Amino acid sequence: MSITVKGPIVEMDGDEMTRIIWKMIKEKLLLPRLTMDLKYFDLGIRRRDETDDRVTIDAANAVKECGVGVKCATITPNAARVKEYNLKQAWKSPNGTIRSILDGTVFRKPIIVKSIPPAVRSWKKPISIGRHAYGDIYKSVEYKISGAGTAELVFTPEGGKGKVSLLVHEFKGPGVIMGIHNTEKSIRSFAKACINYALGEKCDLWFGAKDTISKTYHGFFKEVFDHEAEARRADFEKQGIRYRYMLIDDAVAQIMKAEGGMLWACMNYDGDVMSDMVASGFGSLGLMTSVLVSPEGKYLYEAAHGTVMRHYYEHLKGNPTSTNSVASIFAWTGALSRRGDMDGTPEVTAFARRLEQVVVTTIEGGVMTKDLAAIAEPKPAKFALTEEFLNAVANRL
Ligand code: NAP
Ligand code: MG
Repeated sequence: MSITVKGPIVEMDGDEMTRIIWKMIKEKLLLPRLTMDLKYFDLGIRRRDETDDRVTIDAANAVKECGVGVKCATITPNAARVKEYNLKQAWKSPNGTIRSILDGTVFRKPIIVKSIPPAVRSWKKPISIGRHAYGDIYKSVEYKISGAGTAELVFTPEGGKGKVSLLVHEFKGPGVIMGIHNTEKSIRSFAKACINYALGEKCDLWFGAKDTISKTYHGFFKEVFDHEAEARRADFEKQGIRYRYMLIDDAVAQIMKAEGGMLWACMNYDGDVMSDMVASGFGSLGLMTSVLVSPEGKYLYEAAHGTVMRHYYEHLKGNPTSTNSVASIFAWTGALSRRGDMDGTPEVTAFARRLEQVVVTTIEGGVMTKDLAAIAEPKPAKFALTEEFLNAVANRL
């Protein structure tokens, strides 16, 4: 019996090993059990090149319209890829293009499997990280100072009147300076996206910054976050979740003793550093999911890893591969359960949850790909090949 997914899902196909996995996931797990209205866009590198990357823009706009999308990993071309695929040019990162069209924030969330113990003993539930991906040191102006002199911060309002100039430092000798910025619009979008994510996932929201030291810059982030969270207070209460502002060092200390199960919203640099810490603490890239959430509540799900090029080249040579498909499967279940929630079709959400459960119990039952076999406790006698793992999941489903 087939379950009908009412609303449309935007499907973005991708490249290399993940494209191969993508097809298997659909054929073995989804299409035999679901009737779906898929809006298919081929974001494989050849199609992007043929369409002068128009297909990426069309796909992003389709997510704006449909509300939910799922994306396979894609090649971001560099000089070597331009040569390899004989491309017209080194097209921009599809993820970057899509993110700027949806004005979204990326959240990463690990998949928890009992036999893959996290490096931190207290972590029992996933810790999601939301990274503000605009500004601060990633859009800075820097200058190396060769000798004594005066550094100032100058702001000239449009029209030129009311110029402000602040002394940064009177240099007595060589040194270095940096100017950074952010915009209220970007910070507010980020806060809204984090709040939407926390409400959607029914998890607490933490936001950490250093407003005791940076009373104006970090203080402004706190002010915007507090204000946006206050505006949704009733929704937080309804979902039984909490918003907590804390100093960033306090947040770091508390996360190491926490059970998990929260969204940790981070300023750009903190998110860069902490997402790598949390990802490696939970075990494997193959277990890390990622979702782009727009301030209007549009969702695009994907795996956090890339196209796993090395495995693809082995595959092309005819060698067996053991590529982990878990994060790609969870990209689909994320999109399906979101669709189920939006359409009021609990059977769709239930199917997605069951598929996730089956994936986890398959691994806990000792069937897993090589990347997980290396870190599992207990270690399995052998690891599963790419297709063997998916067959094992399909059989249990
Ligand atoms: P990658 O695809 O994430 O793979 C790096 C290495 O991590 C692999 O060689 C493999 O290690 C391990 N790995 C990652 N995912 C795995 C999985 N599912 N199962 C088993 N092992 C896994 O990164 P990359 O090779 O640096 O990048 C390849 C392409 O992906 C690039 O063209 C890049 O532009 C693109 N990319 C796309 C996205 C995206 O679309 N979101 C994100 C990142 C990168 P071993 O080789 O040790 O087995
Ligand atoms: Mg990083």
